[in-house]
Amino acid sequence: MDSNRDIKTTPRGFHCVLCNVNLPNLPSLDQHIKGRKHQTLSTVRDTRKSQEEHSVFVSGIKPDVSQTDITEYFQQFGPVTEVIMDKDKGVYAIVQFSETQSIQAALACVEHQMKGLKLRVKPRERKEFKLIPKKKNDSQNLQQVLDRLKPELCQLASVDAQIKYIVERFQLGENEKKARGLVVQLLEEVFIEFFPESQILPFGSSVNNFGIHSCDLDLFLDLENTKVFQARAKSTTEQAGEGMSDDGRSEDSILSDIDLSTASPAEVLDLVAMILKRCVPSVHKVHVVSSARLPVVKFHHKELNLQGDITINNRLAVRNTRFLQLCSGMEDRLRPLVYTIRYWAKQKQLAGNPSGAGPLLNNYALTLLIIFFLQNCEPQVLPTVDQLKDMACEEEHCVIDGWNCTFPSQPIAVPASKNTQDLCSLLAGFFSFYANFDFATNVISVREGRALPITGFLKQNKEEEVTSEEQPTKTPHHGPKLGPLNLLDPFELSHNVAGNLNERSHRSFQRECQEAEKYCRSLQYQRKSSKGKSWGLVRLFTPHGEIPHTKVEQLSISIPFNSALLSGVVCNQSQVMGDSFRMQWFNKVCSAVEKILRSVLRCHLALSSDTAFSEDSAVDAAEKMDTTSGSLNTSTNESTESQNEGSPLGTSVVGAKRPLSSGSDDSVSPQGKKPRLARRGKPTVPHWICVQKHAVWAGRRKVRRELVKDSDSRPEGSCIDLESQVTAHITEKEPELTEPVEFKVQPQMLGGTESTRAVLKLEPTCDKVGSFHDFFHFLEAFLPKMVETIMEKEIGLKWD
Ligand code: ATP
Ligand code: MG
Repeated sequence: MDSNRDIKTTPRGFHCVLCNVNLPNLPSLDQHIKGRKHQTLSTVRDTRKSQEEHSVFVSGIKPDVSQTDITEYFQQFGPVTEVIMDKDKGVYAIVQFSETQSIQAALACVEHQMKGLKLRVKPRERKEFKLIPKKKNDSQNLQQVLDRLKPELCQLASVDAQIKYIVERFQLGENEKKARGLVVQLLEEVFIEFFPESQILPFGSSVNNFGIHSCDLDLFLDLENTKVFQARAKSTTEQAGEGMSDDGRSEDSILSDIDLSTASPAEVLDLVAMILKRCVPSVHKVHVVSSARLPVVKFHHKELNLQGDITINNRLAVRNTRFLQLCSGMEDRLRPLVYTIRYWAKQKQLAGNPSGAGPLLNNYALTLLIIFFLQNCEPQVLPTVDQLKDMACEEEHCVIDGWNCTFPSQPIAVPASKNTQDLCSLLAGFFSFYANFDFATNVISVREGRALPITGFLKQNKEEEVTSEEQPTKTPHHGPKLGPLNLLDPFELSHNVAGNLNERSHRSFQRECQEAEKYCRSLQYQRKSSKGKSWGLVRLFTPHGEIPHTKVEQLSISIPFNSALLSGVVCNQSQVMGDSFRMQWFNKVCSAVEKILRSVLRCHLALSSDTAFSEDSAVDAAEKMDTTSGSLNTSTNESTESQNEGSPLGTSVVGAKRPLSSGSDDSVSPQGKKPRLARRGKPTVPHWICVQKHAVWAGRRKVRRELVKDSDSRPEGSCIDLESQVTAHITEKEPELTEPVEFKVQPQMLGGTESTRAVLKLEPTCDKVGSFHDFFHFLEAFLPKMVETIMEKEIGLKWD
């Protein structure tokens, strides 16, 4: 097997050389080899190898030699499948044949003469296929940049000076902006040849005033004028007969290949990619990403080492870029805050998905979070988008795709803010605001500058579901895709710009805000160290993972109270019944967790000797826990208002409550007091002991696909029966682990009136084969989703 040579045995298990990953045991190795990453890389390697074996390297050509010339010449040695030209200097080419014998024939020929040129033909160089570990380089770079930045920051006099320094250090320079402008100009000149009267409009960080040295170049290829041009050309051609259009272009122009009025976006993007590949010097690594929300053509500009993205149908992004420009123009404090928070988020691995996909916040979403915070300061630092709309004059009225995008074109039209807070306190305020923000029950609206109750959106989504069932022909106006962090675009109000976040990335964001909030309260943040120690922003930027989180934090699974699962009646009840309702909800979560562990994942659930649990029912146990350790963070009789008193933003902070002391010490109540049991010494906390003999976490996706035979592609955790069958399949077909994994699961209810959540603390009690962490990471995503499914399908209904 080819895979065998990729696998090396190590003292801690196995190492896959091809994918550069370590695997702790045989089941995970087996899983890895069958997995997508390994399979894709093996296929790419095979293809490259085959291409190398079928091609020759040709030099001595001149820039005016065409692909066709070369194909025609080399066809005498056998069928040619592809010719790749060096488009930059036009001095070499790679010729690929369909048969290897053709290579021998071409190499055997003593002299190659073509169009008066003497060509040199060599065998293709064979390179060993190697995956470049991108992430490592990235984090090394980040570390190097921070190492250089630290002494520079430490010698400045204040946090405000440090924040301003971050802008100077990272902002795009004038020359970089000019170079980007030239690329845009070059692309426009090329594209206009293929798409007459088209325009290339830059948007995003290259032009929104928040760009950094390495930021990508986002471009919108505006084909509206081309469509008009084509329509005009078509009608003129019809009137004047075949062959010529009104500007004298002949019919064989590439334009005749594609009719923009009927072409699909995918076809247009393929053409864009082809033009980039073939006609734009210095552009390489061109590929279409059609799976993105807005399909995009990606490319890389070699000389400028610049990543570029071209989209079509993206007028809203050009407009929201104008909005960000306006915000930075009307409030000087926004830019430094954005640069600092973006840098912090990058260091903490909270933002920036290198490939554009993934569960992290993107920089646009992060900027909107900053704007929303500034809208909610007291007094307001930035106006709401609705307020801006009212400040615009008639000529500035703008509607795109049905969304009102009106705002003044010049910052001068907006009155200055009365807020005089400095950057140091605003930055601390940002962390505090989101450390305490109740994401579970609120949707952030930058348009209105306030948090909207999530229940309204759930109702709207339900009504739309019903309408589309009753009237399938009516196009539904979809509500936003709700997730753990809901942040509405200021213009496209049905779009959650943080809809890509998962429970884990959202939790990391809030946890890092809590850590930062705590640090910002210390003297180390506010005052320059007289002893030359790190202070101010420096400690805030310590990369993710360098300050070890406590063990308990790492091994906790949080299940937020989700009003999405409750019917209207129950929702109202939740407000009326307060604590007792939350306890009921917690009991139901415990019951669901028990069911998942016992029935869905087939774990053996043993009783811990020191618990008050009844073996039969976790609900019972949770109720008992209510009486034995009910004071563990569950009693919050204080009103939200009184909790808000401690907030630096006062009661105007939407959804904010007084912070938990550190975000890490879970045994501290929201009132900041140690709970009764914890104060008495080591508490006797009820918990399950869970034993698993099979790697039920490995390879579930594949088994699920096989079971549903692609007829019903359900996401993980959305169906109890299916997940139980998947486990059954694995436990029956796969060998047992050499040693079972045993761990403790201890449920707790945390939070107050506003951010109730159940937290499961997991701790390995016996893990000889080192599988616990794999199981934990699986449970981290699986349990919350599955609990939601069970609550919705089985338990939630009984609440009505
Ligand atoms: P950077 O490239 O430095 O990460 P950016 O602001 O350019 O920052 P991108 O992710 O490249 O961020 O997005 C480019 C632009 O596309 C944004 O400025 C915004 O105008 C638009 N955009 C990005 N993501 C979204 C989104 N989720 N919803 C709406 N518009 C978006
Ligand atoms: Mg960008």
